[in-house]
Amino acid sequence: MELTASRSHDSFRAMSQDIYSLRMRSSIGSKHISGAERLLEFPKLEDAASALLTRALNHSRGAAEKISITLQPLAREQLIKRPLLNFSTIEVNNWLQGRQVASELLVQLGLRSEIVKSALSQLAAGPSPDGGVMRGAMLVDAETGQRLESDPARGIRVSRMDLDPAAQPVIDRLLQMAGLCNSRIVEAWVLASKVTLYPQIIAELCWSDDPDYLTGYVASAQHGYQRITHLKEYGNEIGGRVFFIKPATDLGRLIDKLQLEPVLFTPPAENCL
Ligand code: AMP
Repeated sequence: MELTASRSHDSFRAMSQDIYSLRMRSSIGSKHISGAERLLEFPKLEDAASALLTRALNHSRGAAEKISITLQPLAREQLIKRPLLNFSTIEVNNWLQGRQVASELLVQLGLRSEIVKSALSQLAAGPSPDGGVMRGAMLVDAETGQRLESDPARGIRVSRMDLDPAAQPVIDRLLQMAGLCNSRIVEAWVLASKVTLYPQIIAELCWSDDPDYLTGYVASAQHGYQRITHLKEYGNEIGGRVFFIKPATDLGRLIDKLQLEPVLFTPPAENCL
């Protein structure tokens, strides 16, 4: 296991007024197993790091051989707060129907159906050049359908986002009332809410690489977080994310924002579950 921290232990304590980016990544050889991104205050770090370690060691994609945990302090002044996307669930009977619905939602957002079809089939086939999953997301030019990420095995990992601690009880209650008690829903909802903050991204499509997690979503600033109950078959280890990018986007600037801008999310504008 690798533990990377960008300050000495003492100065971590001295800077406890800061907020910390905590990231985990685990793998078996070159196979990506799991990853997670948190943004936390000092007193929460120990429990959160321990939970990430437990997750990496007990993952349905296999027990990790290599686990990297990275901790980096950020100045509180850099932090911005934004509301989560509005949330809705679309029930489908199976993954084929789910992918059809996802395609229609993406086309409704103005994407051309052949671009959507190509992105879906790349994701389904394993978006990494070796036919496996990527560590991050595919970036797809919404006009040409071209892949834009410079390393198609890594993709782009969105980082430095979390739920605002004050929002946690509200979100727990909303999810509980909707019968959705699942921390991975919150993680994905937070991630999608960060991705769609940037107007250069028209939409995100996601389904998990966990073989036993079949739900996915389409997210957009326009229509919110649209959870789709089935987007893949049970047992399938191929999943990933696609960000559809407007043409003529300053990619370097967008990637910096996705990776580096720290954002905490407050409850959604509408009580929408
Ligand atoms: P998960 O939802 O954790 O099962 O992740 C599914 C896929 O989404 C992964 O295989 C990655 O390709 C991608 N992914 C996971 N986390 C991130 C992230 N923070 N930023 C971008 N892509 C991600």
